[in-house]
Amino acid sequence: MTIYMKQRTLAKPFSCSGTGVHSGVRVNLTIQPAPANHGIRFQRSDLPDSPTIGAFFRNVVDTSLATVIGQEGAIVSTIEHLMAAFSGLSIDNALVTIDGYEMPIMDGSARVFAQGIMEAGTVEQDKPRSYLAITEKVEIVEGDKRVTAVPSDHFSITCNIAFNHPMINEQSVTLDMRDNTFLETISPARTFGFYRDIKMLKLYGLGRGADLGTGIALTDDGIMNEDGLRFPDEFVRHKLLDCLGDFSLLGMPILADITTNKSGHAFNHAFLETLFGNKGAWETRTLESKAL
Ligand SMILES: [Zn+2]
Repeated sequence: MTIYMKQRTLAKPFSCSGTGVHSGVRVNLTIQPAPANHGIRFQRSDLPDSPTIGAFFRNVVDTSLATVIGQEGAIVSTIEHLMAAFSGLSIDNALVTIDGYEMPIMDGSARVFAQGIMEAGTVEQDKPRSYLAITEKVEIVEGDKRVTAVPSDHFSITCNIAFNHPMINEQSVTLDMRDNTFLETISPARTFGFYRDIKMLKLYGLGRGADLGTGIALTDDGIMNEDGLRFPDEFVRHKLLDCLGDFSLLGMPILADITTNKSGHAFNHAFLETLFGNKGAWETRTLESKAL
Protein backbone atom coordinates (compact mmCIF):
# COMPACT_ATOMS: atom_id res chain seq x y z
CA MET A 1 0.00 0.00 0.00
CA THR A 2 1.50 3.25 -1.07
CA ILE A 3 0.30 5.92 1.27
CA TYR A 4 3.45 7.35 2.77
CA MET A 5 3.70 9.21 6.07
CA LYS A 6 7.16 10.66 5.43
CA GLN A 7 8.53 12.67 2.50
CA ARG A 8 10.61 10.83 -0.07
CA THR A 9 13.43 11.64 -2.47
CA LEU A 10 15.82 9.69 -4.70
CA ALA A 11 18.64 7.68 -3.15
CA LYS A 12 21.12 8.97 -5.76
CA PRO A 13 21.09 11.09 -8.96
CA PHE A 14 20.41 9.78 -12.44
CA SER A 15 20.86 11.36 -15.87
CA CYS A 16 19.38 10.98 -19.31
CA SER A 17 19.46 12.79 -22.65
CA GLY A 18 16.90 13.28 -25.35
CA THR A 19 15.24 15.69 -27.73
CA GLY A 20 12.47 18.22 -27.11
CA VAL A 21 9.34 17.30 -29.07
CA HIS A 22 8.68 20.87 -30.23
CA SER A 23 12.18 22.40 -30.30
CA GLY A 24 13.96 19.37 -31.73
CA VAL A 25 16.85 20.42 -29.48
CA ARG A 26 18.85 17.76 -27.66
CA VAL A 27 19.14 18.34 -23.90
CA ASN A 28 20.80 16.67 -20.93
CA LEU A 29 18.90 16.07 -17.75
CA THR A 30 20.07 15.18 -14.26
CA ILE A 31 17.57 14.34 -11.53
CA GLN A 32 19.07 14.74 -8.08
CA PRO A 33 17.94 14.06 -4.53
CA ALA A 34 16.77 17.15 -2.62
CA PRO A 35 16.18 17.90 1.09
CA ALA A 36 12.81 17.63 2.82
CA ASN A 37 10.36 20.49 2.06
CA HIS A 38 12.31 21.36 -1.13
CA GLY A 39 9.58 20.11 -3.47
CA ILE A 40 10.22 19.48 -7.16
CA ARG A 41 12.28 22.24 -8.80
CA PHE A 42 13.75 22.61 -12.29
CA GLN A 43 17.11 24.30 -12.77
CA ARG A 44 18.29 25.82 -16.08
CA SER A 45 22.02 25.07 -16.08
CA ASP A 46 22.42 26.76 -19.50
CA LEU A 47 21.39 30.21 -18.19
CA PRO A 48 23.50 32.69 -16.18
CA ASP A 49 23.24 31.99 -12.43
CA SER A 50 21.35 28.73 -13.16
CA PRO A 51 17.86 29.93 -12.09
CA THR A 52 15.40 27.44 -10.59
CA ILE A 53 11.65 27.20 -11.14
CA GLY A 54 9.28 25.50 -8.70
CA ALA A 55 6.92 22.90 -10.15
CA PHE A 56 3.84 24.69 -8.84
CA PHE A 57 0.66 25.51 -10.75
CA ARG A 58 0.98 29.23 -10.00
CA ASN A 59 4.21 29.13 -12.06
CA VAL A 60 2.43 27.70 -15.12
CA VAL A 61 2.81 30.19 -17.98
CA ASP A 62 1.39 28.17 -20.91
CA THR A 63 -0.75 25.06 -21.40
CA SER A 64 -1.55 25.27 -25.12
CA LEU A 65 0.69 22.45 -26.41
CA ALA A 66 2.34 21.24 -23.22
CA THR A 67 2.67 22.37 -19.61
CA VAL A 68 5.23 25.19 -19.36
CA ILE A 69 6.41 26.68 -16.05
CA GLY A 70 8.32 29.92 -15.69
CA GLN A 71 9.76 32.15 -12.98
CA GLU A 72 11.85 35.31 -13.27
CA GLY A 73 12.21 35.04 -17.04
CA ALA A 74 13.30 31.40 -17.18
CA ILE A 75 10.98 28.67 -18.47
CA VAL A 76 10.94 24.91 -18.74
CA SER A 77 8.50 23.32 -21.18
CA THR A 78 6.81 19.92 -21.41
CA ILE A 79 7.32 18.95 -17.78
CA GLU A 80 4.16 16.85 -17.41
CA HIS A 81 5.55 13.37 -18.09
CA LEU A 82 8.42 13.65 -15.60
CA MET A 83 6.01 15.21 -13.09
CA ALA A 84 3.71 12.21 -13.57
CA ALA A 85 6.62 9.89 -12.80
CA PHE A 86 7.39 11.78 -9.56
CA SER A 87 3.74 11.71 -8.56
CA GLY A 88 3.11 8.10 -9.59
CA LEU A 89 6.15 6.95 -7.61
CA SER A 90 5.46 9.26 -4.62
CA ILE A 91 8.63 11.38 -4.89
CA ASP A 92 8.22 14.69 -3.00
CA ASN A 93 11.65 16.30 -3.36
CA ALA A 94 14.01 16.47 -6.35
CA LEU A 95 16.11 18.95 -8.30
CA VAL A 96 15.91 18.53 -12.07
CA THR A 97 18.83 20.16 -13.86
CA ILE A 98 18.37 20.75 -17.60
CA ASP A 99 20.63 22.51 -20.11
CA GLY A 100 17.82 23.80 -22.35
CA TYR A 101 14.22 25.04 -22.19
CA GLU A 102 12.35 21.94 -23.26
CA MET A 103 12.24 18.58 -21.50
CA PRO A 104 13.18 15.59 -23.66
CA ILE A 105 10.16 13.70 -25.00
CA MET A 106 11.97 10.32 -24.90
CA ASP A 107 9.52 7.70 -26.26
CA GLY A 108 6.48 9.93 -25.56
CA SER A 109 5.77 8.23 -22.24
CA ALA A 110 7.14 8.47 -18.68
CA ARG A 111 8.77 5.04 -18.75
CA VAL A 112 12.42 6.17 -18.98
CA PHE A 113 11.90 8.62 -16.11
CA ALA A 114 10.01 6.12 -13.95
CA GLN A 115 12.58 3.38 -14.54
CA GLY A 116 15.39 5.85 -13.80
CA ILE A 117 13.79 6.75 -10.47
CA MET A 118 13.28 3.09 -9.58
CA GLU A 119 16.88 2.22 -10.49
CA ALA A 120 18.24 5.18 -8.48
CA GLY A 121 16.11 4.02 -5.56
CA THR A 122 14.10 6.10 -3.12
CA VAL A 123 14.68 7.09 0.49
CA GLU A 124 12.34 8.20 3.23
CA GLN A 125 13.15 11.59 4.79
CA ASP A 126 12.69 12.83 8.34
CA LYS A 127 9.77 15.20 7.69
CA PRO A 128 6.10 14.21 7.46
CA ARG A 129 4.33 14.30 4.10
CA SER A 130 1.67 17.01 3.99
CA TYR A 131 -1.36 15.93 2.00
CA LEU A 132 -3.95 18.24 0.49
CA ALA A 133 -7.13 16.50 1.61
CA ILE A 134 -10.34 17.34 -0.23
CA THR A 135 -13.09 17.82 2.37
CA GLU A 136 -16.03 18.49 0.06
CA LYS A 137 -16.82 17.84 -3.59
CA VAL A 138 -15.10 20.21 -6.04
CA GLU A 139 -16.14 20.17 -9.68
CA ILE A 140 -15.67 22.21 -12.81
CA VAL A 141 -17.71 21.68 -15.97
CA GLU A 142 -17.44 23.25 -19.40
CA GLY A 143 -19.52 21.64 -22.13
CA ASP A 144 -18.68 17.93 -22.00
CA LYS A 145 -15.39 18.53 -20.14
CA ARG A 146 -15.51 17.80 -16.43
CA VAL A 147 -13.16 17.34 -13.47
CA THR A 148 -14.65 16.16 -10.17
CA ALA A 149 -12.84 15.54 -6.87
CA VAL A 150 -14.54 13.94 -3.87
CA PRO A 151 -13.13 13.28 -0.39
CA SER A 152 -11.21 10.07 0.17
CA ASP A 153 -8.60 8.74 2.60
CA HIS A 154 -6.35 7.82 -0.35
CA PHE A 155 -5.78 8.99 -3.94
CA SER A 156 -7.24 7.69 -7.16
CA ILE A 157 -7.76 9.13 -10.64
CA THR A 158 -10.28 7.90 -13.20
CA CYS A 159 -10.01 9.30 -16.73
CA ASN A 160 -12.65 9.07 -19.43
CA ILE A 161 -12.00 10.05 -23.04
CA ALA A 162 -14.14 10.01 -26.16
CA PHE A 163 -12.29 10.45 -29.42
CA ASN A 164 -13.70 10.05 -32.89
CA HIS A 165 -11.27 7.40 -34.09
CA PRO A 166 -11.89 3.64 -34.57
CA MET A 167 -8.94 2.68 -32.34
CA ILE A 168 -9.99 4.98 -29.50
CA ASN A 169 -13.74 5.69 -29.27
CA GLU A 170 -14.65 5.74 -25.56
CA GLN A 171 -12.02 4.60 -23.06
CA SER A 172 -11.83 4.72 -19.27
CA VAL A 173 -9.09 3.80 -16.82
CA THR A 174 -8.49 4.18 -13.08
CA LEU A 175 -5.24 4.41 -11.13
CA ASP A 176 -5.54 3.75 -7.41
CA MET A 177 -2.29 4.81 -5.74
CA ARG A 178 -2.67 2.04 -3.15
CA ASP A 179 -2.11 -0.57 -5.87
CA ASN A 180 1.47 0.47 -6.71
CA THR A 181 0.90 -0.14 -10.44
CA PHE A 182 1.99 3.18 -11.99
CA LEU A 183 5.32 1.85 -13.27
CA GLU A 184 3.81 -1.06 -15.21
CA THR A 185 0.35 0.17 -16.20
CA ILE A 186 0.63 3.93 -16.74
CA SER A 187 4.26 5.04 -17.18
CA PRO A 188 4.74 3.23 -20.58
CA ALA A 189 1.64 4.81 -22.21
CA ARG A 190 2.71 7.12 -25.05
CA THR A 191 1.39 10.46 -26.19
CA PHE A 192 -0.63 10.48 -29.41
CA GLY A 193 -1.78 12.75 -32.17
CA PHE A 194 -3.04 12.75 -35.72
CA TYR A 195 -0.23 12.54 -38.25
CA ARG A 196 -1.88 15.37 -40.21
CA ASP A 197 -1.77 17.62 -37.12
CA ILE A 198 1.90 16.81 -36.53
CA LYS A 199 2.63 17.73 -40.17
CA MET A 200 0.80 21.02 -39.60
CA LEU A 201 2.79 21.73 -36.39
CA LYS A 202 6.00 21.17 -38.32
CA LEU A 203 4.90 23.81 -40.85
CA TYR A 204 4.77 26.25 -37.94
CA GLY A 205 8.25 25.24 -36.78
CA LEU A 206 6.87 23.12 -33.90
CA GLY A 207 6.90 19.36 -33.46
CA ARG A 208 10.46 19.32 -34.80
CA GLY A 209 11.41 16.43 -32.54
CA ALA A 210 8.22 14.41 -33.24
CA ASP A 211 8.56 11.10 -35.10
CA LEU A 212 7.26 7.56 -34.72
CA GLY A 213 9.73 7.01 -31.88
CA THR A 214 8.23 9.79 -29.76
CA GLY A 215 4.56 8.82 -29.70
CA ILE A 216 1.61 7.27 -31.51
CA ALA A 217 0.78 8.80 -34.90
CA LEU A 218 -2.88 8.35 -35.86
CA THR A 219 -4.16 8.08 -39.41
CA ASP A 220 -7.88 8.38 -40.17
CA ASP A 221 -8.53 4.72 -39.35
CA GLY A 222 -5.37 3.31 -37.77
CA ILE A 223 -1.90 4.11 -36.49
CA MET A 224 1.41 4.46 -38.32
CA ASN A 225 3.59 2.83 -35.64
CA GLU A 226 4.55 -0.60 -36.97
CA ASP A 227 4.87 -2.19 -33.54
CA GLY A 228 1.30 -1.28 -32.66
CA LEU A 229 0.07 -0.27 -29.22
CA ARG A 230 1.55 -1.12 -25.84
CA PHE A 231 -1.98 -1.52 -24.41
CA PRO A 232 -5.34 -1.63 -26.25
CA ASP A 233 -6.34 1.41 -24.19
CA GLU A 234 -2.93 3.12 -24.33
CA PHE A 235 -4.62 6.43 -25.25
CA VAL A 236 -6.60 6.85 -22.05
CA ARG A 237 -3.69 5.55 -19.99
CA HIS A 238 -1.60 8.39 -21.43
CA LYS A 239 -4.38 10.84 -20.61
CA LEU A 240 -4.23 9.62 -17.02
CA LEU A 241 -0.46 10.06 -17.04
CA ASP A 242 -0.93 13.68 -18.19
CA CYS A 243 -3.58 14.30 -15.50
CA LEU A 244 -1.32 12.89 -12.79
CA GLY A 245 1.46 15.25 -13.93
CA ASP A 246 -0.89 18.24 -14.08
CA PHE A 247 -2.45 17.62 -10.65
CA SER A 248 0.98 17.12 -9.09
CA LEU A 249 1.53 20.85 -9.65
CA LEU A 250 -0.53 21.46 -6.50
CA GLY A 251 2.84 20.92 -4.86
CA MET A 252 1.64 18.27 -2.43
CA PRO A 253 0.03 14.85 -2.76
CA ILE A 254 -3.77 14.82 -2.81
CA LEU A 255 -6.24 12.76 -0.80
CA ALA A 256 -9.29 12.50 -3.09
CA ASP A 257 -10.96 10.43 -5.76
CA ILE A 258 -10.67 12.47 -8.95
CA THR A 259 -12.60 11.81 -12.15
CA THR A 260 -11.90 13.61 -15.42
CA ASN A 261 -13.94 13.62 -18.62
CA LYS A 262 -12.28 14.84 -21.84
CA SER A 263 -9.93 17.04 -19.85
CA GLY A 264 -6.57 18.42 -20.99
CA HIS A 265 -3.70 20.48 -19.59
CA ALA A 266 -5.57 23.82 -19.70
CA PHE A 267 -8.73 22.43 -18.08
CA ASN A 268 -6.75 20.57 -15.42
CA HIS A 269 -4.98 23.83 -14.66
CA ALA A 270 -8.34 25.62 -14.35
CA PHE A 271 -9.43 22.90 -11.91
CA LEU A 272 -6.36 23.50 -9.72
CA GLU A 273 -7.13 27.24 -9.65
CA THR A 274 -10.73 26.52 -8.60
CA LEU A 275 -9.71 23.97 -5.99
CA PHE A 276 -6.94 26.06 -4.48
CA GLY A 277 -9.16 29.15 -4.37
CA ASN A 278 -11.96 27.26 -2.59
CA LYS A 279 -10.35 27.24 0.85
CA GLY A 280 -13.38 25.61 2.45
CA ALA A 281 -13.05 22.51 0.27
CA TRP A 282 -9.67 21.23 1.45
CA GLU A 283 -7.26 21.10 4.35
CA THR A 284 -3.64 20.02 4.74
CA ARG A 285 -3.15 16.86 6.71
CA THR A 286 -0.30 14.63 7.83
CA LEU A 287 -0.98 10.95 8.37
CA GLU A 288 -0.67 9.18 11.70
CA SER A 289 0.40 5.57 11.72
CA LYS A 290 -3.13 4.51 12.63
CA ALA A 291 -4.34 5.96 9.32
CA LEU A 292 -2.39 3.26 7.51
ZN1 LIG B 1 1.34 13.73 -22.45
